[in-house]
Amino acid sequence: MESQQSHEQLNVTFLPYPTPGHMIPMIDTARLFAKHGATVTIITTHANASTFQKHIDSDISLGYPIKTQLIQFPAAQVGLPDGVENVKDGSSLELLGKISQGIFLLQGQIELLFQHLQPDCIVTDMMYPWTVESAAKLGIPRLHYYSTSYFSNCASYFVRKYRPHDSLDSDDQKFTVPCLPISIEMTPLQLPEWIRTKNPSTGGFFEAMYESEKNSYGTLYNSFHELESDYEQLNKTTMGIKSWSVGPVSAWANKDDEKKANRGHMGESGKELEWLNWLNSKQNDSVLYVSFGSLTRLPNAQLLEIAHGLEISGHNFIWVIRKNDRDEDGDNFLQEFEQRMKESKKGYIIWNWAPQLLILDQPAVGGIVTHCGWNSILESINAGLPMIAWPMFAEQFYNERLLVDVLKIGVPVGVKENKYWFNIGEETLVRREEIMKAVVLLMGSSQESKEMRLKAKKLADASKRTIEEGGHSYNNLLQLIDELKSLKISRELDKSRLDN
Ligand code: UDP
Repeated sequence: MESQQSHEQLNVTFLPYPTPGHMIPMIDTARLFAKHGATVTIITTHANASTFQKHIDSDISLGYPIKTQLIQFPAAQVGLPDGVENVKDGSSLELLGKISQGIFLLQGQIELLFQHLQPDCIVTDMMYPWTVESAAKLGIPRLHYYSTSYFSNCASYFVRKYRPHDSLDSDDQKFTVPCLPISIEMTPLQLPEWIRTKNPSTGGFFEAMYESEKNSYGTLYNSFHELESDYEQLNKTTMGIKSWSVGPVSAWANKDDEKKANRGHMGESGKELEWLNWLNSKQNDSVLYVSFGSLTRLPNAQLLEIAHGLEISGHNFIWVIRKNDRDEDGDNFLQEFEQRMKESKKGYIIWNWAPQLLILDQPAVGGIVTHCGWNSILESINAGLPMIAWPMFAEQFYNERLLVDVLKIGVPVGVKENKYWFNIGEETLVRREEIMKAVVLLMGSSQESKEMRLKAKKLADASKRTIEEGGHSYNNLLQLIDELKSLKISRELDKSRLDN
């Protein structure tokens, strides 16, 4: 009986990349695997585990087979203080470099663990291309975990393949992204720099990452069929990549309020009630939530423009500000601003980290300003919210086009250039007038705003249905687990034939 069970038991090991936008959805996905018949191990370092272990313990107490396997972050070796193990702790370029180096050095420990754990499948973040070889050595499938949209993967693939921007005279001219079902226009400036450059060097990290997707068993997407079916299809056919859409995982894995509040963070108790009371005093759909994700720390000059833009829009807002470690003037301004907003009851500021899932679900919240990080987009869609698109870096400009041109639930604030927050200078600031215009359009009562709101609510219904029994994402996850079990059984049969 025991050996029968071990044959049927599917052991899946998850390896998240330690940045919230990648780690949060992967942990939720791992928990969903455990709830639907797989035995799950998550490999991570101590400080990273502490941000989600509460959820794992709660799943274990409910009887789900899931555990965290800790590895040691080489803090001393890379010159970092203990506990600085996540990209979100990188408040300067120097720190970011050391954290990346530390993550890179984990490879040896992880490979040893794979050998020790002998999983039946590994699900590893897109940022670990080398895990394709680890899986090959073990003779097991590797699933590539992609942390953004099908749309952005398709758009980026065709831009890299056909390089339509190479023939333009200047970086602010428009080109059409090739091979997409609808016409999508962008400028070279909105592309990540390594794609924009005229003579890209070959063999870089990103190329290895895209290659590793092709060489994997398939790709897991935190997305859902009803949201981007054309691009899900394009990804499978033209690009020839097997994939499963199993999202939105945050809505699926965190159905109760306590889980929503603590997701992705250790949680600071006490503060929660204050923002909730503030929101509860507001009318439905009257508050704009403003957040730039888990990494961005804007320069004070940009914070100042946002503060003025929000204030002159006249709309209510709740704004998450991540503290910048840089020594800058302007802190006083923000403190005075916070005080003034408190008195006028127009705005509420949350410093550093907000319980985003909980906030988005409050009836008073009627829209969001987002940097177009994929998780924030999905979470807002699940809450039925239209968005102001303020992309910053990486693939976020593709996501902006998805919101504005495809889904038609987004107002662009008008960002022109793909830049990391630490490179934002005076010339690339988004000005208060542009911010105010976008806020008034999104939060006002024009026909355009009503239509966006209606579309967003419809997508929210689809997002909730897809993770219920019988829904697309629900079926995809169960089908994938079954497929991985069959693969395991075939492997074991092959092995026993060889042994005999
Ligand atoms: N997040 C949060 N509170 C914050 C900032 C971020 O809960 O104050 C969560 C957010 O809900 C999302 C993730 O962190 O799940 C950020 O991922 P996203 O893809 O939106 O952007 P990134 O941080 O990777 O740029």
